[in-house]
Amino acid sequence: MNVLEMRQITKVYGTAPNEVHALSGVDLTVEAGHLVAVMGPSGSGKSTLLTIAGSLEEPTSGEVVVNGQSLGTLSRNQRAALRRRAIGYVFQDFNLLPGLSALENVSLPLELDGVGLRRAREAGRTALANLGLAERADHFPDQLSGGERQRVAIARAVVGDRTLLLADEPSGALDSANGEAVMRLIRDACRRGVAAVVVTHDAQLASWADRVVFIRDGRVVDQTTSASDVESMLGRHPS
Ligand code: ADP
Repeated sequence: MNVLEMRQITKVYGTAPNEVHALSGVDLTVEAGHLVAVMGPSGSGKSTLLTIAGSLEEPTSGEVVVNGQSLGTLSRNQRAALRRRAIGYVFQDFNLLPGLSALENVSLPLELDGVGLRRAREAGRTALANLGLAERADHFPDQLSGGERQRVAIARAVVGDRTLLLADEPSGALDSANGEAVMRLIRDACRRGVAAVVVTHDAQLASWADRVVFIRDGRVVDQTTSASDVESMLGRHPS
């Protein structure tokens, strides 16, 4: 089943004559259980692609379908509900709330969605346990290492029945060992059925993906499904 379908997406910022074509006719499909890495030079449209996939921003034209629902046909409230229930985001700087424990951070999205406290906490504990953090549930962010904080951020992004995980340079602030650990955890989430799109500039990390998509100037210019081809693909697109 396709969790995410993006069809002929364009995004234009600003107005003529100063408009910026951030995306120009991008197609991207991600099946349940698949991990897609997005690479490309700075300014090529990677973050725009993620924010549109996550319904945080609307495309100028084109269609985004998440779990079979076309976002353009949903009301604002329905889109917000889909965002809360189905989509998880991981940001480079983690964005954990310092006054909340790891467990409270992870269960917060469910609580905000009206799930009862007990059920939300149970789901939060499961998500933390899946990421090897069962023992850290009651720790506050400043009592956790950088790698642990990142794992809490991933747990928060996949808690409950989320099906789409979107991560923008999730390993950007980590050393290479922790960066690799993050990719392994996202891979594990995919094994449990989540579809993931991860923006990264690191070919080594991208090689964990089922598919690597390369964008330049708002267009998908290349892709590969073979980890060993990532370096040669990058070689074809010097920045
Ligand atoms: P990347 O993530 O690959 O660095 P972005 O998606 O952030 O690329 O940006 C793509 C293009 O769109 C860039 O030219 C950027 O300046 C422009 N852009 C992104 N967001 C905005 C915005 N909110 N307003 C105007 N221009 C934007």
